[in-house]
Amino acid sequence: MSRLKDPDYPVWVCDTCGQNFGGWYKKGYYVGPPHHYPTYHNGACGVCGSENIPVTAPRNFGHLRARWRAAIIKRKNKMS
Ligand SMILES: [Zn+2]
Repeated sequence: MSRLKDPDYPVWVCDTCGQNFGGWYKKGYYVGPPHHYPTYHNGACGVCGSENIPVTAPRNFGHLRARWRAAIIKRKNKMS
């Protein structure tokens, strides 16, 4: 199944999670396209669950590595 069709795949991601999980970040360094200016809006992050923070689409981080699912499961376990 494509990750893009995965119903759990986050729609919006905050900057912190984008840098932690994004394919355009390697060990904290940005390796994506040089001229890419994503638009952010205030919302809830689909990975860490923070609300009222600037979020943008995962593709603006070069999409998320597979670890995003583990992060969401961890957060959900914390809440229950
Ligand atoms: Zn986040």
